[in-house]
Amino acid sequence: MLTLDLIELADLVRPEQLVDEILKQNPNLPLPVPIEDLARLAGISKIEAVTSEGFEGALISNPEKSKGAIFFNANRPKPRRRFTIGHELGHFLLPWHRQTNFSCTSDDISSRANADWEIQANQFSAELLMPRQLVKRRLVANKDPELAHISALTEEFETSFEMASRRLTELSEYACAIVFSKDNEVRYSVKSDNFTEKLCIRKGSTLPSKSFSRQKETDPDDWFEIDATWWLQERKGLEFPESVYEQTLCQDDGYKVTLLAYD
Ligand SMILES: [Zn+2]
Repeated sequence: MLTLDLIELADLVRPEQLVDEILKQNPNLPLPVPIEDLARLAGISKIEAVTSEGFEGALISNPEKSKGAIFFNANRPKPRRRFTIGHELGHFLLPWHRQTNFSCTSDDISSRANADWEIQANQFSAELLMPRQLVKRRLVANKDPELAHISALTEEFETSFEMASRRLTELSEYACAIVFSKDNEVRYSVKSDNFTEKLCIRKGSTLPSKSFSRQKETDPDDWFEIDATWWLQERKGLEFPESVYEQTLCQDDGYKVTLLAYD
């Protein structure tokens, strides 16, 4: 049975503190995380799909934040709808988010968000949908990261591939990075703490010409080894990996996800 003792949540300020407490109260939290049930226990009495063009997500609550309603874009895939609900629940539960009315754009509910409140609501949603303790346990068991592990996380936690990728790099103990691209142009990249080398690509760069990520089709289970200088900035006089290992998943519409690792 799910429970939520709101008094215990009241003094917690950071997204991960709130989620840790929710997990402490629900040690057997089922997966995928029952985000709508948790929202209802928190005081959200209505969770409604909206179909209007350009709409992404909204929260309306009373000033005390004891009652509220969440609205989300009905036309989005389910992982995205879940993330939006988690984001709005973040605005509802984070104590400094003192507005009664939040209207969030698709940029707000994404890695492009730049207002503090939006970033915090995204962190809350990511923490809640993919709780770090549960994800870490799987990463430790899986050892060296692979795209297949991200796919498995995506299914188990019912999140987008992009979110599971980001979570993997945030929590992995290994040196790994993930490059998101569209039409062979880098959108952005994320890396784990232990990926200490600097990437020589940045937003807007073309994927390295010798990289297998440039291919039209790839098998995401295949690893390719290339000279590290295609991906990494060489640092004179310092020890430098010889090779970078890469796996690439080709998605729809020219989107690709490339996982990079080195020894
Ligand atoms: Zn928001």
